[in-house]
Amino acid sequence: MSIRLCQECCQWVSTRGGRCPDCQDALPETINPEDSDSRFRDVVGQVQGRMGHVRVLRRKLPSDGVIYETVNGLFFLPYRTVTKCRLVEQSASSPMWSVAAVLWSPLMFLSPFLKRRELREKEFVEIEAIRLGKDDLHLLPGFLSRVAGAFFLPVRDIRGITENRGQWTIERSIGSKIRIRPIADGPFCQAIKRFAETRL
Ligand SMILES: [Zn+2]
Repeated sequence: MSIRLCQECCQWVSTRGGRCPDCQDALPETINPEDSDSRFRDVVGQVQGRMGHVRVLRRKLPSDGVIYETVNGLFFLPYRTVTKCRLVEQSASSPMWSVAAVLWSPLMFLSPFLKRRELREKEFVEIEAIRLGKDDLHLLPGFLSRVAGAFFLPVRDIRGITENRGQWTIERSIGSKIRIRPIADGPFCQAIKRFAETRL
């Protein structure tokens, strides 16, 4: 199983046989993002603004991110995974003390006071939003080939958008349905409602 970009469908897919599950195109293992930059700029079109933070209900691909509206459709930019170093406190009791405490039980009562604490560096994997200011929005199409899990849905490929109990379903003319939940209530619901009413 590998994660590859289908340039035809403008989406990253999880594939077993190296083909896109939606359009059946053979997908190369690696791509040079610069080769597709100008094509994706045309396909995505001018970016109009951020609709909101969402969770795309799917497995194997990044699920949390931000949906942007463009003149040609909807763009999903996932959060990126970052590795951070933090200092954590760890106990550093000597094994000799533990052995001594087992052999001579009165030491057991003392052992919590004898343990030393020390600070060690530990790596944590976290996800964080890629923050794009108003002046950076034109860079968005370039993220399609550079951030695994990103996708673009052209308006012409969207058959319908419906809502049920806070979950939004986008039906496409090719490919499976996309299910989305806003991470926080508010702007996304209004933005996608307006999009469905005015753009489809
Ligand atoms: Zn495809």
